[in-house]
Amino acid sequence: MEIRSVAVGEVVFGTGPPVIIAGPCSVEGRDMLREVAAAVRSSGGQMLRGGAFKPRTSPYSFQGLGEEGLRALREVGNEFSLPVVSEVMSVEQIDLLLEYVDMLQIGARNMHNFPLLSAVGRTDRPVLLKRGFMATIEEWLLAAEYVVKEGNESVVLCERGIRTFETWTRNTLDISAVPLARILGGYPVVVDPCHASGRRDLLEPLTMASLAAGADGIMLEVHPDPDKALSDGGQSLGIVEFTELVEKIRGTG
Ligand code: PEP
Ligand code: MN
Repeated sequence: MEIRSVAVGEVVFGTGPPVIIAGPCSVEGRDMLREVAAAVRSSGGQMLRGGAFKPRTSPYSFQGLGEEGLRALREVGNEFSLPVVSEVMSVEQIDLLLEYVDMLQIGARNMHNFPLLSAVGRTDRPVLLKRGFMATIEEWLLAAEYVVKEGNESVVLCERGIRTFETWTRNTLDISAVPLARILGGYPVVVDPCHASGRRDLLEPLTMASLAAGADGIMLEVHPDPDKALSDGGQSLGIVEFTELVEKIRGTG
C-alpha cells in the first residue's frame, strides 16, 4: 500500500526523509523547554514535543503543568519555528489542546479509548496515535480507523514498544510492526525508542534499527539535565547526546 503523506505545518511525514520529533517528556517550564527547542532547531529536528497532561502510572507522580505547559509549548514552538505535539488524555481536553498544538497525541494508555479516537477524528488536527502496550498491530490499525472514519485522515502511527516477559527493558520494541503497519495500513510510522526501552544507552541502536526498518520518523525525549527530570529522565537524552544522535541519523556525524 502506498504510504499517505501527513502534513503538520511544513513538516511532512511519510514521503520525505524521516522526521525528528524531540522534546522533554513533560514540559517543566519555559527555560528548560527553550534550551531543548534551541537544540532541536539547530540540529535539524523538525518538531517539538512536550507533555502537559501526563498519564503517570502513579497518581502521586508529577502530573504535568496543564494549560501553563501548553502555553509554554506554543510560545517556544513559535519562537523556534517548530510545530508542536502534546498528548490529549480525554474528550473534555480536546478544545483546550486545539488552542495550542499542531498535532494531537493519543497515548498508549488511550489507544483503546474509542470515544476519544472518534472525537479527535472530528477535528482538523493531525493525530499521532501511539500503540497500546498490549495492542496487536490489527487493533492499532483499527484504532486508527476510528479516527479516519470521522473524516480526519491525517494519522501518523507511533510504535513505542509492547509489554512482554522481558524486564530489562521497559517495553519491547516491535521492529516488525514498523514495516507491517506501513504496508497494511498505509500510515506513516514513527518510532519512540525512549518508551520502548526505558534506557538512554539503547536509544542510538534502536533509532538506527527503526530507520533501517523504514520508520518515517523518530520521537526522542530530551532534557537539559536528564537526571533531574520530573519524568522519564532515565530514558531521556541530554542536549549534547541528542545533537550527536541527530548527526548520526542525518549521516553528518
Ligand atoms: C509520551 O510520549 O509522552 C507518553 C506518555 O508515551 P506513551 O503513551 O507511549 O506511554
Ligand atoms: Mn515519557
